[in-house]
Amino acid sequence: MRQQEILQDGHGRRFYYLRLSVTDVCNFRCDYCLPDGYTQDKSAGQRPPDLSVAEARTVMHAFARLGTRKVRLSGGEPSLRKDLPELIQAASSTPGIQRVAVTSNGYKLPGVIDTWQQNGLDQLNISIDSLDPAEFARITGHHSLPKILTGIDRALALGVQTKVNAVLLSDGAQARLQQFLHWLKTTPVTLRFIELMQTGDNREYFASNHLRGAAIERQLIETGWQLLPRPIDAGPAREYVHPDYAGRIGLITPYSNDFCTSCNRLRVSAQGKLHLCLFSDTGLDLRQTIRTGDADLLAEKVRDLIGNKEVSHYLQQGNTGGTQNLSIIGG
Ligand code: SAM
Ligand code: SF4
Repeated sequence: MRQQEILQDGHGRRFYYLRLSVTDVCNFRCDYCLPDGYTQDKSAGQRPPDLSVAEARTVMHAFARLGTRKVRLSGGEPSLRKDLPELIQAASSTPGIQRVAVTSNGYKLPGVIDTWQQNGLDQLNISIDSLDPAEFARITGHHSLPKILTGIDRALALGVQTKVNAVLLSDGAQARLQQFLHWLKTTPVTLRFIELMQTGDNREYFASNHLRGAAIERQLIETGWQLLPRPIDAGPAREYVHPDYAGRIGLITPYSNDFCTSCNRLRVSAQGKLHLCLFSDTGLDLRQTIRTGDADLLAEKVRDLIGNKEVSHYLQQGNTGGTQNLSIIGG
């Protein structure tokens, strides 16, 4: 039997996980991401369409040949694509792909989660920065929190592993933490606090809202939350459990020193560009090769490019690379 290749970079990191963005477009206006809503970059001229299902399939086949075991579909807002169920199906039917996840703002979750699950969705990440409906609407520009929570209940009933992403924001952090803790007592989701990251577009917002995850983490430990051992191929999240809570809490702290050493993921944008890091200067264009439909050729190209992956994102030094906001590469 042929030995399974695992893509590895020059720093010994192995890549099991592909984050595939399926659109840049989003209908929300999150303060830290697209505060003025999505607008097409007119200077970019006529843009090719986003990756088709067939092209996405070629990308997933190529990465699966390089050892990818998990695919996450993200965006922009992936559920704005009417063919998202087909994209999920393409991922779940790719030989070698063992887990299919979607990251979504969840605005139409109750109406779509059954179809996603039937098409092979294993894991769902929904972004909720606050459980207070008015505050949620202030942050995102949308009054959809109750509907999103209904969708999460349905996902749990269907047995879809569900995580909730919450960006840590300094103002009102304690009140939000208490609301989340109350919810986690009975709700079996993993809540993942993500430190706000600086991007090209949000410098001022970052300066006034960034909160270190370390303070929250100390508070959790002091109140009996226990760190779970991390599997060897785990990504950078640290996950905590507590005997009195049905849910778990994870922390993603990109400003901590060793964050990049556990990097296990690569990203491809909806335009077919390979991003070796969330904060790379530029995406490496794979589109021509993707269009050939030849997954072996594409795998060879990705293998050649992986050597260019930097050891760190250099976020601590204020580097944001070419990343204006995370809607382009899906976070
Ligand atoms: N629209 C979908 C959503 O919001 O879940 C998927 C794309 S969004 C870019 C993916 C994740 O990135 C979300 O959880 C969002 O909160 C997070 N995110 C966006 N901008 C961020 C930033 N500057 N710092 C930290 N997380 C960010
Ligand atoms: Fe849209 Fe997600 Fe960005 Fe919010 S974080 S504006 S939902 S892409």
